[in-house]
Amino acid sequence: MTVVTRFAPSPTGLLHVGGVRTALFSWLYAHHTAGRFILRVEDTDRERSTESAVRVILDGMQWLGLHADEGPYFQTQRMDRYSEMIAVMLRSGSAYRCYCTKEELEALRAEQTARKEKPRYTGLCRTRTEPRQGVAPVVRFKNPLEGAVVVEDLVHGPVTFQNSELDDLIIARSDSTPTYNFCVVIDDMDMGVTHVIRGDDHLNNTPRQMNMLRALGAAVPVYAHVPMILGPDGAKLSKRHGAVSVLQYAEEGYLPVALLNYLVRLGWSHGDQEVFTLAEMIAAFDIHDVNKAASAFNPEKLLWLNQQHMMRAAPAELVPHLQSQLERLGLPSSDQALMEGVIVAQRERTKTLKEMALNSRFFFADAITLDPKAAAKHLSGDAAALLAQVRAGLATLPDWSAPAINAEINRLAAESSLGLGRVAQPLRVAVTGTAISPPIDVTLALLGRERSLARIDSTLQRLASARH
Ligand code: GLU
Repeated sequence: MTVVTRFAPSPTGLLHVGGVRTALFSWLYAHHTAGRFILRVEDTDRERSTESAVRVILDGMQWLGLHADEGPYFQTQRMDRYSEMIAVMLRSGSAYRCYCTKEELEALRAEQTARKEKPRYTGLCRTRTEPRQGVAPVVRFKNPLEGAVVVEDLVHGPVTFQNSELDDLIIARSDSTPTYNFCVVIDDMDMGVTHVIRGDDHLNNTPRQMNMLRALGAAVPVYAHVPMILGPDGAKLSKRHGAVSVLQYAEEGYLPVALLNYLVRLGWSHGDQEVFTLAEMIAAFDIHDVNKAASAFNPEKLLWLNQQHMMRAAPAELVPHLQSQLERLGLPSSDQALMEGVIVAQRERTKTLKEMALNSRFFFADAITLDPKAAAKHLSGDAAALLAQVRAGLATLPDWSAPAINAEINRLAAESSLGLGRVAQPLRVAVTGTAISPPIDVTLALLGRERSLARIDSTLQRLASARH
């Protein structure tokens, strides 16, 4: 049997890490089993669905690399199919028209509540044979009256629901639009979904969906309801905790694989391995191993993993990410060698590509911005004379490489009997504008001779004009 999974987000809020984890588990399980992964946008709630939420789903899945083998399907494009199946169920007798009015249902509810019973539809119209004048009916599914439905959930184990607790669900409203649970059932059936992996806030929908699938003579998929992601305070992760659109992580300079790696470990583990490549996740992930304890979102760990992946990646792989961060800063670059060099020099000291880009502006900008504090500290007193000496030494270097630059700076430090820092810091401020950069030899080598010397010159000029 080929495994078919699906991710079925409703575009009513922006896709955030909770949804991404569900998508990831579905995608991974399909890849682990050489199955198929479907993307289905559940956009029937027209009032709450938004274009921008759909965009975030499509762009977010693209950025994450969670490509679908089928889809995206949109439920709003399948309305005819739902109508057709409602007609089929009416004909087969597994659904019926209900003419109870809103007022009657409210009265029923009030009576049940007064008797301290759980409000539920009693099936009054199950036996009705004639339409009622002036009432547009809804269509209800004829839920079995007896017995129980057992969801053999891969995460929660068997969960039993008594049919007596499940009333006859409305599957089409009086304006004949299909309802949410019905669309899911028809889609899962039509798309041949074998494994439904979704948030455990849907567990209560499952017995009804299973009953409908059985009434349709369709195969019932295997269910796995994964626990919610919680905020650090233990409540369901929400906007309040900064649960933002997945695309925000792109903006913040995270690598998609780092976010996926972080999310795969929420509720799933593989020995004590923390860092996974995508291929390792695919090889090791099994939905049967997901546990039901909810996990809390930990931004620090995500940052740590991001750096781990930055350290392990081939520099060339990180170039497009750094490039897009530089663009955001108004410093577009197409210098592949420089970007790779900057990545190697900076990745030990930065946790995101955004931080890397911010700390590397001086490599890409035409002119530097002098940090006044760094200038006051390192470019005062005899710094100008020293800098001029360093400049002269560097200008004559036959080979502009980090080792050659390093040897020259060391030579000058020894000759002037100043510490290395006394030579390196003014130089650093002169070429970067700040007192913090990768090792000075690496920094100069990356900047190149021409730019390095030009920056030293312009700093010397500034110092000279400040003195006059
Ligand atoms: N559309 C539902 C949601 O976004 C998921 C439904 C399902 O996976 O069955 O919560």
